[in-house]
Amino acid sequence: MASVSQLSYLGFGVSNPQEWERFATEILGMQISERGGDGTLMIRMDDRHYRFAMHPGGNDDLAYIGWEVPDRATLMAVADQLGAARIEVAQATPEEAHARRVVELIKFRDLNGVASEISYGPMVRQDRFVSPRQVSGFTTGDCGLGHFILAVDDIQASLDFYMTAMGLRVSDFIAFPAGKIPFLHCNPRHHTIALIPKARSGKRINHFMVEVNSVDDVGITWELCQERKVPIVASLGRHTNDKMLSFYMGSPSGFAIEYGCEGRRVDDSTWKVEMHDSGSLWGHRGLMGSIERR
Ligand code: FE
Repeated sequence: MASVSQLSYLGFGVSNPQEWERFATEILGMQISERGGDGTLMIRMDDRHYRFAMHPGGNDDLAYIGWEVPDRATLMAVADQLGAARIEVAQATPEEAHARRVVELIKFRDLNGVASEISYGPMVRQDRFVSPRQVSGFTTGDCGLGHFILAVDDIQASLDFYMTAMGLRVSDFIAFPAGKIPFLHCNPRHHTIALIPKARSGKRINHFMVEVNSVDDVGITWELCQERKVPIVASLGRHTNDKMLSFYMGSPSGFAIEYGCEGRRVDDSTWKVEMHDSGSLWGHRGLMGSIERR
């Protein structure tokens, strides 16, 4: 089976791009790579031209998911799998591919109607990523941007879609009173996407996670968020399944951002699916409330 290989980028429609520029640079420690003519902010965290695109307008939610494959043959193979799953796939125009700074791109809607794209050939930059507030660096590379939690209409149907059409593999489940949340991987990162049930009026995105290279980056950012009165959605803690040491902050768009380190890696040749009876070994106070309030 062909599989996407990483999360390349995420696009959002945001009501306050100016606040996002301040937040991305001063709090997250990322760089502004480019400001588009329409006010779009391209935000950089590694050697890629961008990993996040914040478009003015929209409903402060996920606008599109940008998956990546290594080459054209894999793109065509995944497109065939999408077709077999009765998903309508469109070839993006060269202009659309340029707007995303990739060589080639296909577009479709996932099972929940979330705009999704798969590309290969991302634009990489020769000038080194330098954090404006000296974060030692973000852990990306073959593990991709990070992970995100998508609120879906039907967990089982969405799980089937992401496994059979997109080629993602289950890492494990966390059992909550409301049901089992599946965590899926497509590279050594423990999970790139997890699926939770969507509340009627809730956002499609619950949170995205970025991983930093050192525990000090997490600790310094934890203190900074408190000094700068950034809302803390969940306190410092360590997750049961991916072992991430992290905390969750509120973003200018209301959804949360997990900021963590020491995430576990998956080796498909030895991995066995597990089910965990809680989300955290310790800490993360407030997290369940954020999922229930979604
Ligand atoms: Fe997370």
